[in-house]
Amino acid sequence: MDFTGKVALITGGGNGIGRATSLGFAGHGATVVIVDRDGPAAEAVAGIVRQKGVESLAVTADVTRTEDVRAYVKAAVDRFGRIDCFFNNAGIEGRVAPTAEYDEAVFDAVIGVNVKGVFLGLRHVLPQMIRQKSGAIVNTASVAGLVGTPGMPAYVASKHAVIGLTKTAAGEVARQGIRVNAVCPGPVDTRMIHALEEQLAPGDAASIGERYQAAQPTGRYTTPEEIANMVLFLCSDLAANTTGGQFVVDGGRTATGGAVTNLVSR
Ligand code: NAD
Repeated sequence: MDFTGKVALITGGGNGIGRATSLGFAGHGATVVIVDRDGPAAEAVAGIVRQKGVESLAVTADVTRTEDVRAYVKAAVDRFGRIDCFFNNAGIEGRVAPTAEYDEAVFDAVIGVNVKGVFLGLRHVLPQMIRQKSGAIVNTASVAGLVGTPGMPAYVASKHAVIGLTKTAAGEVARQGIRVNAVCPGPVDTRMIHALEEQLAPGDAASIGERYQAAQPTGRYTTPEEIANMVLFLCSDLAANTTGGQFVVDGGRTATGGAVTNLVSR
């Protein structure tokens, strides 16, 4: 995979999966625009990218705010002239609680980032790619976009919605040289999974993490780099006729029914 001369834009690029994917694109020659509401984290990743000898720009933005989304697209195009690859990835986990008790404000917050943020990214990046008549987009869904997880109603609803947005946009722009796919990670070793462990077992996250990993078919969490590898493949010319798909990277969890882990009644 060679991304020399290509411009990749990554939201949530300051940490976790977005950070690993930013570094992956840079390692394959792409110019990388790193968007995150955590500005110092985005700047830090941009610094590492520049040390690899490729150009990088960090943009502080909240993906739920239209003006911020317009601004990150404009910043990328003003500086580098185009957007070839868009990893629409920023997301939050919300709280673990049953639907009957779920806090309405948390529900709104999760839908705001995970659904509206992904929609706004598509809404403002697609016109640029349509003008270019080319581009590849990967939206971050989850195995929670394919099956239910009791205890995570907002997150599961949001990730099912990401799959719907992906399929819809893919059909709209396929004849314009643009591909839109979704990546569906299982549990990945980032802040997010450790925050969920802490919610499930306050003060004892490590032990629940060990048990949870042991329950995966491969016996471990996926690494952020292993998600990045799928994203890079989907953005590359190797996937030139691949669009509208959902690509699971979960160590065999969904295939074996493991995604229906009941988080709220043990
Ligand atoms: P993370 O918390 O390590 O990183 C998320 C990044 O997104 C952070 O840098 C954060 O600052 C940024 N972000 C959050 N809200 C934002 C907003 N409103 N505007 C701009 N930036 C924002 O988590 P991660 O595990 O790397 O998650 C990345 C994506 O992968 C998310 O969409 C998540 O739902 C998805 N995912 C994660 C897992 C997992 O187990 N870690 C599994 C499946 C899917």
